[in-house]
Amino acid sequence: MLYNSGDGDLNYFDCHCDTLSRILDDGGMLRQNTGHIDISRCKHTFSKYGQVFALWGDADKEKGGISKRFDRLFEVANAEFGANAGDIALCKSGEDIEAIFCKNKIAAILSIEGAELLGEEMETGVDTAYEQGVRIIQLTWNYQNAYAGPSADKNNQGLTEEGRKLVKYAEGKMIIDVSHASEKTFFDIAKITDMPFIASHSNCKKICGHHRNLTDDEIRVIIDRKGLCGINLYAPFIADAGVCRLEEVLSHVMHIIDIGGEDVVAFGCDFDGCDRLPNEVDGIESIPGIYSFFKKSGLCERLLNKLFFENAYNFMKNNIK
Ligand SMILES: [Zn+2]
Repeated sequence: MLYNSGDGDLNYFDCHCDTLSRILDDGGMLRQNTGHIDISRCKHTFSKYGQVFALWGDADKEKGGISKRFDRLFEVANAEFGANAGDIALCKSGEDIEAIFCKNKIAAILSIEGAELLGEEMETGVDTAYEQGVRIIQLTWNYQNAYAGPSADKNNQGLTEEGRKLVKYAEGKMIIDVSHASEKTFFDIAKITDMPFIASHSNCKKICGHHRNLTDDEIRVIIDRKGLCGINLYAPFIADAGVCRLEEVLSHVMHIIDIGGEDVVAFGCDFDGCDRLPNEVDGIESIPGIYSFFKKSGLCERLLNKLFFENAYNFMKNNIK
């Protein structure tokens, strides 16, 4: 364990966590819980802290229909952000993020992980979710749905007709997140939209061959589009085998920087969505320790600031509308 309470001057922006889904499924509260992220632990750790909260559901496990789950997740988001209004606020625009930081609050952004959460009628689903504050959407999670093929499917299925419609309809409203997309879906999306897009919580396939990680060609497209690659701390996405340590996390960061991605590399730790982290990491309270480790390993302050905060902050500030 590498615990570091921090001295409160670190800025941090994270592109993906499953904390709200965990609260819905396992209970607990955003104020304080036994998972990876709670407000009590981040309050004195960061100066500025932005966090994308994913709304996620597994259609196979949802007896009442997956679209109802969106309503329940949104209720949790509303209730938790409301109960902690002095410390956290939902951002619907770049200006919101700046205003919320000025008030020393955590800037929260909502994303959807798996477009089946939109319900039967795609356009109504996008409009409703947008209205409720969702600004980022992943077309698929780990299984094929009406919109796109996931990386988990060996058949490498791409966008469906409905998926193409969704990408075009979401333009200007929601940022597309390709983290769980198959390679075919990734390049289909790149072909039909000029908008910047992100891989909120995926690492480099060159370093660790997991299907959820990005090829160098994919990373280059994200660099060209001025998107984001969020480094994921789930151990199986970091190292092919054996124990996973922060050195290996750093090699993913360095690989993205080496191929020209110093302006797109960020974090999307997958906190509360994964059960195996590097040895030195317990949760959000470990971020200052990761910063110190990377600093000791020779990463300069300019790159550290980009990685921990500026890249994701600038992207969200310019693209959340
Ligand atoms: Zn995920």
